[in-house]
Amino acid sequence: APIKCKWRESLTKPMPSPHCRHDWKQQYKNGVFPDVLAMIGNTPMVKLNNIPKSYGLECNIYAKCEFLNPGGSVKDRMVKRIFEDIERQGLIKPGMTIIEYSSGNTGIAVALVCALKGYKCIIVMSEKISDEKEAVIVSLGAKVVRCPVTAGLEAPDGLFGTAYRLHKEIPDSFILDQFGHPGNPLTHYDTTANEILDQLENKVDMIVFGGGTGGTVTGIGRKFREVSPHTKIVGFDPVGSRYAYPPSLNKTDVTFFEVEGIGYEIVPPTLDQSVCDYWIKTTDLDALPMAKRLMKEEGLLVGMSSGAGVAAALKAAKELKKGQNCVVLLPDSIRNYMTKFVSDRWMEAKGYQPCENKNNVWWWDQKVSNLKYRP
Ligand code: PMP
Repeated sequence: APIKCKWRESLTKPMPSPHCRHDWKQQYKNGVFPDVLAMIGNTPMVKLNNIPKSYGLECNIYAKCEFLNPGGSVKDRMVKRIFEDIERQGLIKPGMTIIEYSSGNTGIAVALVCALKGYKCIIVMSEKISDEKEAVIVSLGAKVVRCPVTAGLEAPDGLFGTAYRLHKEIPDSFILDQFGHPGNPLTHYDTTANEILDQLENKVDMIVFGGGTGGTVTGIGRKFREVSPHTKIVGFDPVGSRYAYPPSLNKTDVTFFEVEGIGYEIVPPTLDQSVCDYWIKTTDLDALPMAKRLMKEEGLLVGMSSGAGVAAALKAAKELKKGQNCVVLLPDSIRNYMTKFVSDRWMEAKGYQPCENKNNVWWWDQKVSNLKYRP
């Protein structure tokens, strides 16, 4: 039976009006912030130039640089928001143990907030998630519990099952529940969506995003439906995940994909698929080489879901005309994947693309007193 969660009910109802507006426009004098949490949000937006041109696109593609948040991802926003909400409600106090299931980026953000505010922290994540994310979480002083890749979200040894077992066993513990807490979509409804509209002076013709919890899709999507109804909203979803709508799009024998942070086998309450006009399926072969191109051709040091997003945006934006604007999110950075797609040798070993840079690293070989390629 699905695990009961106290927040979920509220998410089946329409999104409430923002019950608190955050100070997303507040300027800190001379760019000096009182603490790291104040640096969350207000991310810059950058125009992509070389890649859209190579696809013959005439419209503008703008990328929202969520990887520049202090924890390194889009998830900082909602973790800050959920902590503010539940602290205000008196549900947690320093010294308690915060438990959260995550594909790593939420885990990093939660561990960071816990380190600053004096909570203990346990992050539950799948074996699929990169060791780089684990190293960051552990360095922030949190503990990590790994689940089998094959366990479904709601299986006893899956993300939810493990977290709720830990919660039962550990006194004074609290599960944030990013897959069910309304503060997740609401933070994007209140901040990210407003920033995008401001940055492009309300001229947004298309927005393209993928779903992990669906917080960004739901929050940004619902704000755009209200204030910018002409904007085309496009969702993308990895082949092997079941977030795309209609469900017939999700038929496949594929059960594993490399891209981290987006797509699961069940649709969580935080994802409102219906805000999207349509959905596009993406593969690792779309996402990973595109993430490489974003580094080489745009100078954007971003992660795998950013590659998937830009690949999807390039397809969807074909319908846009000269001067129209398409927005895509860049949720996290290469830091999380240094031993994965960032390594050309890994890309070659996995069959994504040949390693072109084999002979680009040299070292001094004492035996021959000369520079040699490093094997
Ligand atoms: N990309 C990455 C790398 C992520 O970690 C996440 C969050 N899991 C997302 C995209 C999707 O964000 P959301 O949870 O808001 O759907």
